[in-house]
Amino acid sequence: MKGFVVKITRLKWWLDLVAPHTCRGCGALGTVLCECCKNNILRERVEICPSCKQRLDKAAVRCGDKRREVNAGTAEVRAVCEECELPFGRLRVVGWREGLLKRLVEEYKYQGVRELDAALAELALAVMGEVGENVVVVPLPTIGRHVRQRGLDHTWRLAREMALRKGWECRRALRRAKDTVQVGAKQAVRETQAREAYEVTERLEAGRVYLLADDVWTTGASMRAAAEVMKMAGATRLMGVVLATGRPKVEGAAGDEEGVMKDYGDGAAEVAQKAQK
Ligand SMILES: [Zn+2]
Ligand SMILES: [Zn+2]
Repeated sequence: MKGFVVKITRLKWWLDLVAPHTCRGCGALGTVLCECCKNNILRERVEICPSCKQRLDKAAVRCGDKRREVNAGTAEVRAVCEECELPFGRLRVVGWREGLLKRLVEEYKYQGVRELDAALAELALAVMGEVGENVVVVPLPTIGRHVRQRGLDHTWRLAREMALRKGWECRRALRRAKDTVQVGAKQAVRETQAREAYEVTERLEAGRVYLLADDVWTTGASMRAAAEVMKMAGATRLMGVVLATGRPKVEGAAGDEEGVMKDYGDGAAEVAQKAQK
């Protein structure tokens, strides 16, 4: 079975070389993600803390008209959530793990579509904003067995592409101490696994900006643990970027649903309104 999976990945890779690319969003020929669809992802995004899912610009939004302030870009966005005590000076997410963005991340990660390097790196860089010079991008290391099965190391490729585009350094400063698998594990187990999962491969420099990059923020246990390990190894300025995170689970009655969801953007508000009707 294992060999079969590898063969399928390879086959897809060869097909990608000979077949023309189509935009995963609209089907346009010639590219895996056209400018229009890429801009739509960025336009629809809201600044959220991936951990508690609160809007980072909430304080500013509460003071005035929500839609106008957010769309005009006047709402002041905090670099990091003040409630979650995350070990990052800035933490950014491209968007919710749904629709086109979800498909892109899955094709990149599980199907090894290398042509998505550029599009996903551009999205990550766009949401990071100005980070400064002398940045080192560090990929959150993927389990070695998964890299071999999928035929590509997607977080490494993403980190490298981001660094290339900005003239930054990209270093595999972290490695997995343990090849633990997280899928399906309970949160407490995942947190313990995460703490033991990473070690640094080099001494990190105080004063340099280390930008930790990963594909998906689920519980955040991996990103948090990796950041703590980097801090212990000497990093003083840490930032984080992930491509996608899940929307908060909606629990209880329709009334709660709107309360939970209306804060996240127009699409969510529409869903909540429909649920109430
Ligand atoms: Zn498109
Ligand atoms: Zn938070």
